[in-house]
Amino acid sequence: MKTHYKFCIVIGLMMTVNSSPISRGVEEDDAFVESYLKKFYNLTEQTGTASHGRFSQMSLKIAEMQKFFGLTVTGTMDSETLNVMKKPRCGVPDVAQYSTFREGLKWKTNELTYRIENYTPDMTAAEVDDSIHRALQVWARVTPLRFTRIHSGPAHIMISFGRGYHGDFFPFDGPHGTLAHAFAPSAGIGGDAHFDDDEYFTFRSTNGYILFLVAAHEFGHSLGLSHSSDSDALMYPTYSYRDPNSFILSKDDVSGIHSLYGSNTRLKRPHKPDLKPPVTCDPNLVLDAVTTLRGERFFFKNSFFWRVSTAYKTGPHLIQSFWPDAPDYIDAAYENTAQDQLFFFKGQKVWVFKATDIVQGYPKSLSSVGLPSTVKKISAALYDPDTGKTLFFVDNKYYSYDEKRKVMDKGSPKLVGKRFPGVTGKITAAFQYRGFTYLFSGTRMFEYSNSSKKVLRELNNNYFLPC
Ligand SMILES: [Zn+2]
Ligand SMILES: [Zn+2]
Repeated sequence: MKTHYKFCIVIGLMMTVNSSPISRGVEEDDAFVESYLKKFYNLTEQTGTASHGRFSQMSLKIAEMQKFFGLTVTGTMDSETLNVMKKPRCGVPDVAQYSTFREGLKWKTNELTYRIENYTPDMTAAEVDDSIHRALQVWARVTPLRFTRIHSGPAHIMISFGRGYHGDFFPFDGPHGTLAHAFAPSAGIGGDAHFDDDEYFTFRSTNGYILFLVAAHEFGHSLGLSHSSDSDALMYPTYSYRDPNSFILSKDDVSGIHSLYGSNTRLKRPHKPDLKPPVTCDPNLVLDAVTTLRGERFFFKNSFFWRVSTAYKTGPHLIQSFWPDAPDYIDAAYENTAQDQLFFFKGQKVWVFKATDIVQGYPKSLSSVGLPSTVKKISAALYDPDTGKTLFFVDNKYYSYDEKRKVMDKGSPKLVGKRFPGVTGKITAAFQYRGFTYLFSGTRMFEYSNSSKKVLRELNNNYFLPC
């Protein structure tokens, strides 16, 4: 038990149930402060210490806490200090409590596995899977670490939801107390993350705790990080809402994880991503590429994308926040719905993804999708599930690839206008959706009806975007 305890980093997010009790007694506050300092600042039990000795230890711990949070250091309680203590927060101690913790525990391998053992009833399984996956990708994006999901046997990071006593020495406490905890890298329980199922977890809603945010913080501990006193950091002790769609790590988090694992050597990006997102409602916007993915639509421009479903329109988001292995400034993208594969094109290379995970062996050359070596880059692509053909556009021409027979159709390339009467110019992006083919050409977009075989409307590139 002793050894086990040494390896533990307990994480939880504390919040007060009633934000402002009408008359909270001084004694009640004293008890709260004492328990807070015991939990997060290693205030030890009084064992035969003289009362003023106890007082000075309290005072020392209050000063330590005030220093960590950047408050005025007085060593005595005041309302400002009490307010900070009552904020929702993670339960990991802010001061190193375990010797192992100080040594910078880390995994000895960059190839880590994770397993989701069970689910919360608060969210759909797909939402939990997505939240966990993206929370891990937050760290994978900036490190050489890779996370592979397994469905049986022990994983480095075992993820579970539980209530009260749930199999370790740190029982959960019902609603509105500790939200979750995780363990620093080691064998056995090390790396594991537990979520208190008496809390209400959400996917996107602000009415509850966003699982992605809680999990991303917990996984920071699973990888060996301690708390930061930088209030912009994910590893700051208090929980705060951030938009999960545009979330990126702070500089402090990145330098912390780099000190343990180094930077992401997989990415050989020709340039750093733009920091300036494109203007969504710019009437002269020319998109790089458009694709569907599992029922949603994704629109790409430079280092960014917009995500559009029947329920929401969001963006622009950084491409690398969703696809850590994808390039920026892509030429074309399409989804093969029959094989559940997503293709990105840039120059003479093609990348294939299962949702956001790159398929082993990619990127490959354009010839891997059947294009002749004379093609140096494509400008758009789409997959037509009705005919089983993939169309690769090169300016105002297209190649038609028969996915079933695995051959290029005879006569390729052909003029776009032959297949899509009324469509003129170079095709810059393309996708199919609900019986229509959308062909983008410069700032224009043609809406072509697959059934009536004619162009119904000419629209702007940002017609589908959150404008
Ligand atoms: Zn924490
Ligand atoms: Zn636990």
